[in-house]
Amino acid sequence: MAEEGIIGTMRLSEFWEYVPENPLKPPVEMAWNYMTDNYTRFQIATVGSVMVHMLSYYLISLPSIIAQFLPFMQRFKIQKDKPETAEGQWKCIKLLLFSQLCIQLPLICGTYVYCEVLSIPFEWDKMPAWYVLLAQFYGCLVIEDTWHYFLHRALHDKRIYKYIHKVHHNFQAPFGMVAEYAHPAETMILGLGTMWGILLMANHLAFLWGWMFVRLLETIDVHSGYDLPINPLHLLPFYGGARFHDFHHMNFNGNYSSTFTWWDKIFGTDRQYKEYMEKEKGNKKD
Ligand SMILES: [Zn+2]
Ligand SMILES: [Zn+2]
Repeated sequence: MAEEGIIGTMRLSEFWEYVPENPLKPPVEMAWNYMTDNYTRFQIATVGSVMVHMLSYYLISLPSIIAQFLPFMQRFKIQKDKPETAEGQWKCIKLLLFSQLCIQLPLICGTYVYCEVLSIPFEWDKMPAWYVLLAQFYGCLVIEDTWHYFLHRALHDKRIYKYIHKVHHNFQAPFGMVAEYAHPAETMILGLGTMWGILLMANHLAFLWGWMFVRLLETIDVHSGYDLPINPLHLLPFYGGARFHDFHHMNFNGNYSSTFTWWDKIFGTDRQYKEYMEKEKGNKKD
């Protein structure tokens, strides 16, 4: 058995020798080493993490911001009768900046304390393999989606809806930047879903930043308001996507999950969505 294990490992390592080297590796490695050589762990974990979060958020949102000005993109817009307005977007940016600077910044700065307590490595040489990181990100998505389904559904309870979650539903037809448009209490409650993966699996700074990027990519995609025919995120089995979450904003009920469709399927909270999609299909045929 032990021999078989060794042979198996050798074969795997031989296999990797034939895989062509990632052309992006040398410049990324140089930039990463420059960062770890020239900045302190405190600077990287605080200023670095805030920069990664803010840059990722607005860069990922950018295509859906530009899309509103491109006539050929309008065929992919989900709620065509509700276009983005300048007032709506400005209102969104104001709350976002408040939330990102006053709520998220202190939370992200807490990353430093967390990294020190658990001695999370920052060095390039200690970075986990890309396939390990991908598996971790998938695990984090599953955990976040589960947390999000139950807590989001609870936030829709009539007794508390108007105090917290109503803010996020200000936009009946969402656009990319709406992803983090929420009451501070919601940012903390639903944000904990993103934190669970970090608390359970953090093994390197690359994982923390990578997971932050993946989560933003997913939540901005589902809020984008555009259902593109080619979207690599749909390669994830059971990925809900923009159409699935757009329906939640349009209908206020059902489709409570953030990423996958299984919890809504299990609890039947996707019933109204299925009926709506059937109707839409019927309308297209007529
Ligand atoms: Zn909701
Ligand atoms: Zn939403």
